[in-house]
Amino acid sequence: MNDSARSETQQQVLMEVRNLKKYFPIQRGFLRQVVGHVQAVDGVNFFIREGETLGLVGESGCGKTTTGRLILRAIEPTEGDVLYRCNGNLVNVMDIPKSELKAFRREMQIIFQDPFSSLNPRMTVFDIISEPLQIHGIADTVERKDRVRDLLEAVGLKAQHMNRYPYAFSGGQRQRIGIARALALRPRLIVADEPVSALDVSVQAQVINLLEDLQHEFGLTYLFIAHDLSVVEHISDRVAVMYLGKIVELAAADELYANPLHPYTEALLSAVPRTDPDEKSKRILLPGDIPSPANPPSGCKFHPRCRYAQDVCSVQVPEWRELKENHWSACHFAEELSLTGI
Ligand code: SF4
Repeated sequence: MNDSARSETQQQVLMEVRNLKKYFPIQRGFLRQVVGHVQAVDGVNFFIREGETLGLVGESGCGKTTTGRLILRAIEPTEGDVLYRCNGNLVNVMDIPKSELKAFRREMQIIFQDPFSSLNPRMTVFDIISEPLQIHGIADTVERKDRVRDLLEAVGLKAQHMNRYPYAFSGGQRQRIGIARALALRPRLIVADEPVSALDVSVQAQVINLLEDLQHEFGLTYLFIAHDLSVVEHISDRVAVMYLGKIVELAAADELYANPLHPYTEALLSAVPRTDPDEKSKRILLPGDIPSPANPPSGCKFHPRCRYAQDVCSVQVPEWRELKENHWSACHFAEELSLTGI
């Protein structure tokens, strides 16, 4: 996103997520009694400005994919609001009747993580990319062909690819087909759910560059989900770090990487590959596994793995505070700790 485009859109919030929760019931026994809940998303708040990329980062199982699906209403939330700016008005996505969701879904699309399983092997590339147009009754067959040709060219593929099947393509090319399908309805917001995680490192950069080019060309807004900070570093305007269902830090990308204000972010940053081999010894290894969201730790959910934890951390939930302008963190000791960035 260039500077002039950024300044034009800086004020315009496209989506605001308020206190979003998703608790999945745990059912046991013959009568399927509810014996507990998996707190997959536990009171998440953030906004996304029009034309920006918000990176959402955290380990597997932290709730980032569930968050992406909740804002698309692919699954229903337990609680919370998702306000979306449409024709100048803020619409609460959670209040849209199911019968009207189809029209709304033209605004938001998803790019899936796995380009191998997300494309139907029995469908040609033309059928895959034109399917959303068909479902929404957009364009006749001839127009659809033109649209698919344009979309293939936009993602760096050729018109003659439209008659082939997914098996004929490499992982990177398949992800390009998935991106073309996501663009078919000309959405404004795209949830990119780990779009490069399944790809070779050499191909990852190409796909990220493509997503950036498409953002400029089509004025897209991205929620870019990834499990490590190195992937989102260059594409994100701002980054939110998620741990066990909660966002623990959120700031502009440069600020978050240079001056982290949460120990979990510091640990994730220490795993970002560096050019200097001596830096490797500074990697912070978190003890233990990520706890179960069905039985999360008390107080600060990060306390069993935090090297700065004190007694209060296991008792009191840290407040979500704006510690510097537009830099938010949930840590009792954020002001006192001197954390290392990159
Ligand atoms: Fe660590 Fe305590 Fe801060 Fe949680 S509140 S991140 S346990 S220091």
